[in-house]
Amino acid sequence: MVTDDVTGHAVVVGAGLSGLLTAHVLGRSFERVTVIERDALPDGPPVFRPGVPQSRHVHILWSRGMAAMEELLPGVITGLEAAGGAVVGAPEQMRWLSAARWFSGVRGADYLSVSRELLESALRRRVVADGSAVTVLDRHEVTGLLPARAGQTVGGVRLRERGADGAEFTMGAGLVVVAAGRSSRAAGWLSELGCPTPVTERVDARLGYSSRYFGRPADERPWKAMYVQGNPDVPRGGVILPVDGGRWLITLIGQGEHQPPTSEEDWLSFAASLRSAELSQALRGAVPLSDAVAFRATANEWTHFERVRRWPRGLMMVGDALCRFNPVYGHGMTVAALQAQVIAGRIAGREPADIAARTQQTQRAVAKCVRPAWVIATGEDRRYPGTDGPEPGRLGRMQQEYLARVLAAANTDPVVAEAFFAVLSLNRRPETLLTPRIAARALRRRR
Ligand SMILES: Cc1cc2nc3c(=O)[nH]c(=O)nc-3n(C[C@H](O)[C@H](O)[C@H](O)COP(=O)(O)OP(=O)(O)OC[C@H]3O[C@@H](n4cnc5c(N)ncnc54)[C@H](O)[C@@H]3O)c2cc1C
Repeated sequence: MVTDDVTGHAVVVGAGLSGLLTAHVLGRSFERVTVIERDALPDGPPVFRPGVPQSRHVHILWSRGMAAMEELLPGVITGLEAAGGAVVGAPEQMRWLSAARWFSGVRGADYLSVSRELLESALRRRVVADGSAVTVLDRHEVTGLLPARAGQTVGGVRLRERGADGAEFTMGAGLVVVAAGRSSRAAGWLSELGCPTPVTERVDARLGYSSRYFGRPADERPWKAMYVQGNPDVPRGGVILPVDGGRWLITLIGQGEHQPPTSEEDWLSFAASLRSAELSQALRGAVPLSDAVAFRATANEWTHFERVRRWPRGLMMVGDALCRFNPVYGHGMTVAALQAQVIAGRIAGREPADIAARTQQTQRAVAKCVRPAWVIATGEDRRYPGTDGPEPGRLGRMQQEYLARVLAAANTDPVVAEAFFAVLSLNRRPETLLTPRIAARALRRRR
């Protein structure tokens, strides 16, 4: 139980992408913001850390996410480009075989391709820069929430230092934001406070990734990146992305029985078994810099904290701790940045106590950012026969059929491509694909 006045102190659990961006916006209203991170965080060059295992796999930041981060931290994207990240025009600067055919002669949307480690370390440097209200306490693990005097209120966290004797201690706060990623145990922490367990929706396409770094070959090629997508008939794909350090990060993707392997020989034969031989051919001049590593836990899972009726004052959930997407659509980081923007808008000009009193409304607003990406990911995933989750109804099947036609048209029709990529990059809502102009072009093509 917290007794000191900690109203002006906010705690953020997790120093991943979402935790850093949220801490940054809270730093405009709170006197102090402490980000608690269980991993040791390097001061020097970016390195892999176990708390973010997905960082070894391809990560793209769609233009909407770039714009959101740039608004929150001006200059950050230019800095990442200068440090070796690449802005890629999709699909025109790529070789991209969609689930239907190769994209050709159409423009879409840009994305930033950069290693997840570099992206996070650049954000961290900016967020804890001199004069900022934000500090990071690393090597500490949060183990639960602390109730405060006024009943349904969170007043801080319980935590312990990692590698020490393991004794728990407490840290008081007027606001706690959980940004603990895919491994978050926040639903359990909520039950310990006496709150009902939130419902989690789940759609699992049972997608697996297997990724490794290669040196980028010096020879000229007419594309910056390559994506050979799988489809329900051949659910195997692969991506080549340029990242910092003159490297390619190459991820092989497979669904259900088609999990991509990690051993050298099997990895190369999987690459050769995709719908096109181009990716395998591109590998010929490339020197491997790492072994392959796998990632399997890729289900879409949305924990509906916003529906919990007696939501405690002073508590919020953001990022993957709230909703995790099948990564193949590249939406998680953009959604995290949009959530930080929403929080910034809702807390602007308010006092910390007022912000803490309104966390239920803010939680609902944050959850709204999730829906467009959720609709895209789960709608597409349900097209695959081995997907676990509720079957799409008649309407859902019609939507899938329609979207498949939009995608086929987008391969070569510049108008449909523009509309399609505006949705995929989260710049426009999915329903904008239903306008008569787009529908006429998508359906005409089919005939
Ligand atoms: C294989 C894969 C590929 C992906 N590709 C893309 C992509 O192309 N584009 C895209 O936009 N998104 C992608 N994503 C999603 C993206 O990685 C996440 O959406 C994003 O990292 C979410 O950030 P976060 O801060 O919520 O979680 P994370 O970045 O996972 O950070 C959570 C942090 O919390 C810490 N933590 C956890 N528990 C505790 C605790 N109890 N106490 C203290 N600290 C704790 C962890 O150590 C970690 O540092 C991908 C995801 C996967 C799995």
